[in-house]
Amino acid sequence: MTDAPDVGELTPPDRTLMGPGPSDVHPRVLRAMSTPLVGHLDPSFVAVMDEVQELLRYTFRTDNQWTIPVSGTGSASMEAAIGNLVEPGDTMLVPTNGYFGGRMASMARRAGGEVVHVDAPWGEPLDPADVQDAFDEHQPDVLGFVHAETSTGVRQPNVPELTSIAHEHDAYVIADCVTSLGGVEMRVDEWDVDVAYSGPQKCLSCPPGASPLTLNDRAMDRVLSRETEPRSWYLDLSLLEGYWGEERAYHHTAPITNVYALREALRLVAEEGIERRWERHLDVAGALKAGLETMGLEMNAPDEYWLPSLNAVRVPGGVDDSAVIGYLLDAYDLEIASGLGDLSGEIWRIGCMGHSARPKNVTYVTAALGDALTAQGADVDVDAGLAATSEHLGE
Ligand SMILES: *Cc1c(COP(=O)(O)O)cnc(C)c1O
Repeated sequence: MTDAPDVGELTPPDRTLMGPGPSDVHPRVLRAMSTPLVGHLDPSFVAVMDEVQELLRYTFRTDNQWTIPVSGTGSASMEAAIGNLVEPGDTMLVPTNGYFGGRMASMARRAGGEVVHVDAPWGEPLDPADVQDAFDEHQPDVLGFVHAETSTGVRQPNVPELTSIAHEHDAYVIADCVTSLGGVEMRVDEWDVDVAYSGPQKCLSCPPGASPLTLNDRAMDRVLSRETEPRSWYLDLSLLEGYWGEERAYHHTAPITNVYALREALRLVAEEGIERRWERHLDVAGALKAGLETMGLEMNAPDEYWLPSLNAVRVPGGVDDSAVIGYLLDAYDLEIASGLGDLSGEIWRIGCMGHSARPKNVTYVTAALGDALTAQGADVDVDAGLAATSEHLGE
């Protein structure tokens, strides 16, 4: 037998989280997480469940009855969406323009589906004409797309165009809204999205653990009339209906503390107002963008599909991207991230999500990144950048 390990008190560094997630958590959410537990079937918790569902509908802009937090991270709500919609032998059309389209493809294959692709380079959105061509060629049953591609900083515009192409072909649409929900305009009902999923630790600024999912009746009818059971028992929506639907019967023990946290994070969304929250992300991330561009840096995405919640900034020639990331962490306790896949070494990814989307944070990032670049000998005008950030913020 070994001795009891001598593990010290937990003292994480005081980081400012401006990477691709998690984002800074609001103190009210942290406080909600220290609220005493009740049972997951306690009448008081059943009322909390109803409130969370109501707040999620508001945030997704939907009246969908089928709106729940899935136990697990964003990948769990993603797998619940894909694993329930796709049956063996179905065809799912997925994009190639970023990391998360690739994850959609893996999940669809594991569900027994056949995967076909609509191509666009990393760093560009899907062109509706290409989606139309892919439908004509492959007749897929399900279209998946990523509304806010966290790997590239690209916002998919033309969502209603994509959904109408899919519906003209009797297909279902699954939208990845992990980095858009609560930060970037997304209107599930008005834009005719059948299934949308998200995660709590991006624009909702909540710790990971309970992840938003919504399905309209048409999608839920398909799920409930499957010929084969979904391969995951844990994420089978026909079973989860027993807990989150009318019955409120045991399926698994909900992560009660995470549901409390999500409730508080969503209350903050409702207090601010969803449209004002979208505006805030545009304004605050816009100030960051103005500052960085004025300093002499270049955004990877053009303005038409720039994603305010995830700013992809080109690494200037001669600069070592990971040295800058390390410097920011050491000297400023500031987290930003490097590029992935096709954009590895080419961009930095700077999140501006939820509680992190604040004027003081973007001013801090502008100053700190300017300093890191100056230390690397890059030719940047930090003062001009800071003045532009400040001006954009109306200071
Ligand atoms: C973060 C993210 C996910 C996965 O969420 P996890 O919480 O890491 O499981 C899926 N899609 C997109 C676009 C994301 O940014």
